Amino acid sequence: MVNLTQRLTEFLSAKSFGHFINGAYTSGNSEETIDVVNPATEETIASVSLGSSDDVDQAVRSAKTAFDYNSPWRKMTPDDRGKLLFAFADKIEEHKETLAQLVTLENGKLIKDARSSDVGGAAKTFRYYAGWTTKIEGETLDISQAQKGGKQNFAFTRREPIGVVAAIVPWNFPLSIASWKVAPALAAGCTVVLKPSEETPLSALLFAELATEAGLPPGVLNVVTGDGSTTGAALTSHKGVSKVTFTGSTRTGKIIGKTAMDNVTGVSLELGGKSPAIVFDDALDFDAAAKGVAAGIFRNQGQVCVAGSRVYIQKKVFDKVLTDVSHIAQKMKISHGFDESADLGPLVSKGHLEGVCSYIRSGLDEGARLLSGGEQPFDKGYYLQPTIFSATDNKQTIVQEEIFGPVLVAVPFTNLEDALQKANDSTMGLAATVWTKDISKAMSMVNRLQAGVVYVNSPVRSDPNLPLGGYKHSGIGRELGKTGVYAYTTLKSVNIVY
Ligand code: NDP
Repeated sequence: MVNLTQRLTEFLSAKSFGHFINGAYTSGNSEETIDVVNPATEETIASVSLGSSDDVDQAVRSAKTAFDYNSPWRKMTPDDRGKLLFAFADKIEEHKETLAQLVTLENGKLIKDARSSDVGGAAKTFRYYAGWTTKIEGETLDISQAQKGGKQNFAFTRREPIGVVAAIVPWNFPLSIASWKVAPALAAGCTVVLKPSEETPLSALLFAELATEAGLPPGVLNVVTGDGSTTGAALTSHKGVSKVTFTGSTRTGKIIGKTAMDNVTGVSLELGGKSPAIVFDDALDFDAAAKGVAAGIFRNQGQVCVAGSRVYIQKKVFDKVLTDVSHIAQKMKISHGFDESADLGPLVSKGHLEGVCSYIRSGLDEGARLLSGGEQPFDKGYYLQPTIFSATDNKQTIVQEEIFGPVLVAVPFTNLEDALQKANDSTMGLAATVWTKDISKAMSMVNRLQAGVVYVNSPVRSDPNLPLGGYKHSGIGRELGKTGVYAYTTLKSVNIVY
C-alpha cells in the first residue's frame, strides 16, 4: 500500500514495545499487552505493554530524579534548554515522513494531515516554546511592610518549574497535542511522564526516542503505554506528580480532576466540545462559508475537539448554504490515509465508529432529517460517510452531545439573539465560528458567545501563540501561548530585607 521509511520499518520490526523510561526501553512489569490496530485494514501493527502501577512508579521516579535540584537538566541554563528544544524540533522535521506514516498507520488519518497537523504542528510548537525558555519572568513589587532601623524591602516573585508533569493525551492528534503539553513543560524546566492513548501509543514512543537522540537527558521525557483505567489512573494518582495536564473527554476529565484533587495536585483539563458555526444571511462569501463549515466538521474525520459540529444558519439562506455543504460532503473521496487524493479516512477504532453510528441512529429516532451520508461505505476498515442532518429542536441529542465524528447537524435561526441563545444553549464551550461581513454583528457575537475560542470568517485553527481552552464543561485552564508555559510554573514570593 505504501513504502514505509527505513526508520519506520526498523522501528516496527520490534513488534512489541515496552515503556520508554529514563532514556531507554524497559520490558514492562506486566504480562498484559494491548494490540495497536490499523483502522484502515483492521490488522494489528504491533503491541504495547499495559503499564502497571509499578511501571508508572518507575517512570515517575525517573522523572523525579531528572528534576532533582542538582541534576544536569536543572543545572542547564535557559538558553541551553532552548537549544535542546530547537534540536528536538529539528529532529521531528528530519523524521517528518516516518512520524507521519506512523501516525497514519495507528490513527488512520490522512497522511497529508499527519504531516501538517501532527508532525509539522509538533515541530512548530517545540520551536515556539524553545524561544520561551529565556523569557520566563517574575516581577519586582513595592510592598508596604515597615522595617525597623531604616531597613528596606526588596520583594520579588520568581517563576519556578512546577515539577514532574503527568501528561495524558487522546488519539485524535497524538503528536501535536502531546507537544502542546511536553514542549511548554520542558521549556519551563519540568520533567514529564507522557501517557498516550492506547489507540496511538507508537508515535509517542518514537517521539521519545527522537527526543533522546536530540540530546534530552535521560528521565526528562518518559512514556508509559497502557489504558486509561489502569495506567492513566495510576499516573494521575501518583503522589510524585506535581501537575496533571489532560486532554480528552469531559467524562474522563471529571474523574482525573477528582483524583488530582485528592493529592492537591495542579490540573489543567482540555475537554470536549460541541462547537457552533453560525452563518448569517449577510456572510461575506457564501462559498467560503460553506467550504469553511465543511472543513470545520469533516477535517480529521470530525475527530477534532474544536470541530464545528452544529451549524446555525439564518433562515433566508438556510437551504442554499446547507445544499452547498451537502454537495461538498457528497464529493469527498473516502479512502485509506495513504491515498494522497483522499478527503476522508477511517475513524480511529471499531468501538469509536460504533459510538458515532449510534448517534446517527439517535438522530433518526429523534426525528432529525438525514440529508447526506450516514452509511459505512466499505466492508473493511472503520469508514463512515460524511453525514449531515437538519434539525429544528436544539435539545435533540445530536445537537447537544459531542459525537466526535464526521456528523454535522444544521439548525435554522431567525436573528442574532436567536443565534446566540441557541449557540450558548450547551454544557460545552470550547470554540465557535461566526460568518458575517458586519463587524458590529461579529463583535457582538465575539463578546457574548460562551466559548474559549472564536473565529470570524474562518474555521478554527490552532497556532502556538494563541491560547486554546474551554468555557463550561470544555475545561479548566488554557494551553499554548504564554499562558501555556506559565501553566507549568509555580510562583515563589521573596522579600529581602536589607
Ligand atoms: P478519553 O477521555 O477517552 O481519553 C483521553 C486520554 O485519557 C487517553 O489517553 C485515555 O487512555 C486516558 N484515560 C481514560 N480514562 C482515564 C482515567 N480514568 N485516568 C487517567 N487517564 C484516563 O478521550 P479520547 O481519547 O476518546 O479523546 C477524545 C476526546 O478528547 C473528545 O471528547 C475531544 O473533544 C477531546 N479533545 C479535547 C481537546 C481540547 O483541546 N479541548 C483536543 C482534542 C480532543 P486510553 O485511551 O488508553 O483509555
